[in-house]
Amino acid sequence: MDSTIMDYELTIKSIFWRIEKLYRDRVIVSRLSNSRRTYTYEDFARRVRKTVTFLKQNGLEGKNVASIAWNTSRHLELYFAVPLSGGVLHTVNVRFHPREMDYVVEEMQDSAVFMDEDIEASLNVKTFRLNESYDEIIDSQEPAQELPDLEEKRGAVSCFTSGTTGKPKGVIYSHRSIFIHSLSLLAGDVLGLSSNDVVMDVVPMFHISGWDIPFASLMTGAKLVLPGIRPKPRDLVELIKEEGVTLAAGAPTVWIDVMNYVEKEREDLGKLRTVVMGGAEPPKGLMERMRKLGVRTYHAWGMTETEAIATVNRSDDLNVLTKQGYPIFGFEISLLDPAGRELPWDGKTMGELAVRGAFVTGRYFKGEAKFTWFRTGDIAVVDPDGNVKVVDRQKDLIKSGGEWISSVQLENAIMSFHKVSEAVVVGVHDERWGERPVALVVPKEPTTPQEVVEYLKSLNAFPNWWIPDRIIFVDSIPKTSTGKLDKKVVREEVKKLLQSP
Ligand code: AMP
Repeated sequence: MDSTIMDYELTIKSIFWRIEKLYRDRVIVSRLSNSRRTYTYEDFARRVRKTVTFLKQNGLEGKNVASIAWNTSRHLELYFAVPLSGGVLHTVNVRFHPREMDYVVEEMQDSAVFMDEDIEASLNVKTFRLNESYDEIIDSQEPAQELPDLEEKRGAVSCFTSGTTGKPKGVIYSHRSIFIHSLSLLAGDVLGLSSNDVVMDVVPMFHISGWDIPFASLMTGAKLVLPGIRPKPRDLVELIKEEGVTLAAGAPTVWIDVMNYVEKEREDLGKLRTVVMGGAEPPKGLMERMRKLGVRTYHAWGMTETEAIATVNRSDDLNVLTKQGYPIFGFEISLLDPAGRELPWDGKTMGELAVRGAFVTGRYFKGEAKFTWFRTGDIAVVDPDGNVKVVDRQKDLIKSGGEWISSVQLENAIMSFHKVSEAVVVGVHDERWGERPVALVVPKEPTTPQEVVEYLKSLNAFPNWWIPDRIIFVDSIPKTSTGKLDKKVVREEVKKLLQSP
């Protein structure tokens, strides 16, 4: 028997209704190139409606439109205006090579691109620069009165994977997936975002819609702080203190830089109470340092294909907090062997994490394959209670003498040494063992490879044959466009370093 509930589409329009009707005097703060903009949700909503008019006048209503932009109020206005007018906002990674930008814009058939001032790319589509004259043009428009009613399954935002293993692949999030994922983030056991929070999203809005945190924040009336173009640790600390940020989110690398700055400058983190970290496993030492300043960390796991945060760990115990956590609402996991058979959740058996849910991609843009379960390429173990521990990316595991070594576990062990700032471990070809681990390490204070090895042994955390054969000190570690350790480039670098005399 069918239910008797009325049809109600879960769309961004429903979020926009709350913004306009319930939270008019709530505030959005954005760092712009030469200033900081602070405006109410009411003013923001008016700008969104004016942007809708602007889109219409330029023949962009209902079209795919690209943005190559940082976390700013102008970008946030497009986050709403484009989907509200029935189009798809394609958020392009600002760190893509211009060739990749061209490729993804062409793939998506974007009709125009909105670009931040600092982006140096000239693409083959109509381009609008997001600057002060753009603001004036938008301000001079009439606010659109009518917004179309949209079906919830319609695309709203799209994003390409970073393409570390080939060409970037497109994923399109629907109104419904954004609505449900954002709602899930608000839950007390997930991020517990509420109208009392001052939220700073340091997750780039060009990558997986900033983990949907902008949508979730505005859904609940929180004060949202956007850190602008290329924020430096100093800018972030200034915003945290001056705007009273209570909850912030970003990749561990961001927080390593922030903590180095805070400790060097003897700064504090004001009212900041919670930092959500994901995209890579946060080093335990980093979480410890933050805790000393009264900041709790939540650990989240997710990927472009799961619309970002899909598992969350909020444990008080730092040893448990290095696990990626429990599936959030509307999301299921399974552990599979290479033949696709289900493996037990016993905290020991390693398998590939497969996932499904209300915000998991069902296929890639232009992709043939349809997924009922999406295989993530992450190797994990799962505790009997469902707590996930990602051991490594399938392709980054090191096979030595027929046994697996987790590069991630080694990296985190090295980074827990107080004389080390960052570390990356990759496998190199070895005649005898197949592969052996080699580490690149950025020291925080003077140390020697021998000292690092002694430290690793003293941990008693893994067998001695896991210990890297070579530990090479470097000034910095190559990162991907989304701030993860770029193991493809690291492998090349290690090869060169090992060849040089
Ligand atoms: P992307 O789609 O570029 O965001 O990359 C997603 C991948 O990042 C995942 O498949 C994981 O390999 C990795 N990842 C994301 N979050 C975490 C985390 N908390 N711990 C370890 N790896 C993570």
